[in-house]
Amino acid sequence: MKIRSVDIYILDIPTVRPHQLAMHTIVEQSIVVGRIINDEGLEGWSEVATIGGASYGEGTPEAIKANIDKYITPHLIGKDPIYYSNIMFEISKAVRGNYFAKAVVETAMIDLLAKSKNIPAYELLGGKIHDSLPLAWTLASGDTVKDIEEAKEFLRQKRHKIFKLKIGKGDPYKNVDHVIKIIAAVGDQARITVDVNQAWDETTANYCIEALQEGGVSMVEQPLPTWNVEGMARLTERFKVPIMADESANSVQEIYQITKHRFGNSIALKPCKHGGLIETKKVAAIAEGAGFGLYGGTMIESSLGTAVCASVYATIPEFEFGTELFGPMLFKDRITVKDIQFNNFEIVIPDGPGFGMEIDLEKVKHYSREYSYSLN
Ligand SMILES: [Mg+2]
Repeated sequence: MKIRSVDIYILDIPTVRPHQLAMHTIVEQSIVVGRIINDEGLEGWSEVATIGGASYGEGTPEAIKANIDKYITPHLIGKDPIYYSNIMFEISKAVRGNYFAKAVVETAMIDLLAKSKNIPAYELLGGKIHDSLPLAWTLASGDTVKDIEEAKEFLRQKRHKIFKLKIGKGDPYKNVDHVIKIIAAVGDQARITVDVNQAWDETTANYCIEALQEGGVSMVEQPLPTWNVEGMARLTERFKVPIMADESANSVQEIYQITKHRFGNSIALKPCKHGGLIETKKVAAIAEGAGFGLYGGTMIESSLGTAVCASVYATIPEFEFGTELFGPMLFKDRITVKDIQFNNFEIVIPDGPGFGMEIDLEKVKHYSREYSYSLN
């Protein structure tokens, strides 16, 4: 089997409600979708998502596409995806960084390879340990009353019992008060965590985490900017509440440094930021060896990208903090024929060949920015 073509599309899909983070409010989510076709016409598909252009991280959708088209695709054409680890190793020597771009092509190769063998992708990754995984929801409307109503409704529907609050935007002390009110309303039935998305300085973090710990918060994600690793170590030392590294935890080398120096004591995984599924498994192994708790993170992928994340998370032994693969619930529409299934507070790992998702080509065309590609 040989790779014949690689196509990269940028899609903008509206969300069901505004999703407010420290640096950006999402009303339309931009995803990058990859399609790799082999010499028999079989297709492998993949997706990564980005948040807020260049405001969350440096990997914009436009840069991901441009760098794959010019620098990565030449390493793929004519190659056999059964050797995807070797192909990725060759790419790693020719292309620095670009983790999201690498994740797009690696996962599309894995989807293609698994489909050619008529097996689920997780069987190429050691097989699944979990049939389903706990699913957190992010309360991010920015309004306390609305957030409490939303949490109560999802508890009633048995959809989520872990809620994460995005508290990096606005007055930190008012935000802490917002969190404490939500814990008072639903804390007896649900676990409440917070994500600061790098928005605090260390002094603010010291005041706020003390109050949050006192108030019963279960975890504090990326309170400080990525550069302030020493500050993360001091917070980890000072507080009992787990301090999670997300934006600061990308490459295997970064994860090693975080675990060695305790720049946090738990890690949010995301296949796109680690550069693919094999790298995600390596990162998880380093964290496991250090006794760090794991969280199955999301960049808010649609159903396809969520299936990719779920497939690799299913092969990892433990997620102390569950997962947050709620992306498909936030999108107004999807580019796959069927949606991801959710049941009894958990996401169900998709079965079926590849990542278990059949592409709806008309939807890909509809939401794709460029119409000049040979989408057929
Ligand atoms: Mg985060």
